[in-house]
Amino acid sequence: MQMPPEGRNWDDLRAEMIARGHGDVDWRSGRTAVYVFNAGEDIHHVQQDAYGLFMSENGLGPLAFPSLAQMEKDVVSMALDLLHGPAGAAGAMTSGGTDSITMAMKAARDFARANGNPPSDHNIVLPRSAHLAFDKAAHLMDISVRRVPLKGDGSYEADPAAMAEAIDASTIMIVGSAPNFPHGIIDPIAALGEIANAKDVWLHVDACVGGYFAPFARMNGVPVPAFDFEVPGVRSMSADLHKYGYCAKGASTVLFRSEELYRHMPFSMRDWSGAPMKTPTLAGTRPGGAISAAWAVMNVLGVSGYREKQGIVCATREKIEAGVRALGFEILGKPQLGLVAFRHPEAETLALYSAIRARGWFTSFTAEPASLHLMLSPKHAEVADAYLADLAASLDAVRNGVSAPKVEARYS
Ligand SMILES: *Cc1c(COP(=O)(O)O)cnc(C)c1O
Repeated sequence: MQMPPEGRNWDDLRAEMIARGHGDVDWRSGRTAVYVFNAGEDIHHVQQDAYGLFMSENGLGPLAFPSLAQMEKDVVSMALDLLHGPAGAAGAMTSGGTDSITMAMKAARDFARANGNPPSDHNIVLPRSAHLAFDKAAHLMDISVRRVPLKGDGSYEADPAAMAEAIDASTIMIVGSAPNFPHGIIDPIAALGEIANAKDVWLHVDACVGGYFAPFARMNGVPVPAFDFEVPGVRSMSADLHKYGYCAKGASTVLFRSEELYRHMPFSMRDWSGAPMKTPTLAGTRPGGAISAAWAVMNVLGVSGYREKQGIVCATREKIEAGVRALGFEILGKPQLGLVAFRHPEAETLALYSAIRARGWFTSFTAEPASLHLMLSPKHAEVADAYLADLAASLDAVRNGVSAPKVEARYS
């Protein structure tokens, strides 16, 4: 495409853009269980409206926009309250989980340097199931990654004893997920916390996908084990607002047990031609809309709204678990939140994945072991029966050797 020599009419362009979207997955109907969190039309409108109110404002300028600075503070304080942040805990909003994880690692690295650790040759110790954002950040900062196999007992949990063995004097961070993305399982954070304390190493809990889910599941009576700042060894956490916080995209939180740990995150400089500048996260300019939309959604839902939505998601997951078990599938581990992965002993997963895709469902895939994967939203309560019926039909087709055109199971 070349830029049109003369600008085009907005109404025409708008219609063209809507038409372009017609080739995308139909997430609004609930037939998508990855990438999008569908909390309903009302929340969608709050996101849109609240985003628009501060769309041109810039979170980079707290002096110019005290409104945004205060909304960010409010969001961080709501987050710390939900996740048992002790007095003096601190944090910031970022553009997403990858940004939050990168900044937590940067803080841990600079904390290590400030405390006399070697300036280079650092490593981090991760369970096999931790998100690739850690590897990306490690690549950027020249930190090596030690991925440790999970417990071999079918729980799909991190193995604290094996992780302890991988730690050495150059380890600047160990990680547990709450939950991990591939299996939706919460790692044994309390056991990792004991190791972190015993070895005096930084423990980060990646609650990107569970941070705004697990607290409400607990309030609803789900026996979620301690996974947040309640565990003494946890020094930092990542929790994404644009996932189960149901906020507009471009919003996450990175949280620290204390101001002393937090202060290793921001970057500031005065030695250049411009005025002294300080940026707390990876971004310079920060979209005001992502902050205002998060503030609005959290306030519009409140504790009761989140409890209701996460209750619906848990009930839907239980219904799907029962339905797929009845079809002979095995659930990986014991998921407690909104993610679930399952495989069938007699049907090849990729063939099933292709068959269910051909029936209009855009879901995802776990590689180890090969399984179907769902990330559920409240909207899925309305379509769980239709999904199970299509899954049963897909299973029949695959067993009878009627195969759909094979699609690749990948994210990009
Ligand atoms: C989504 C996710 C991330 C990365 O978050 P982005 O917002 O996609 O950058 C990290 N960890 C876990 C467990 C996630 O589910």
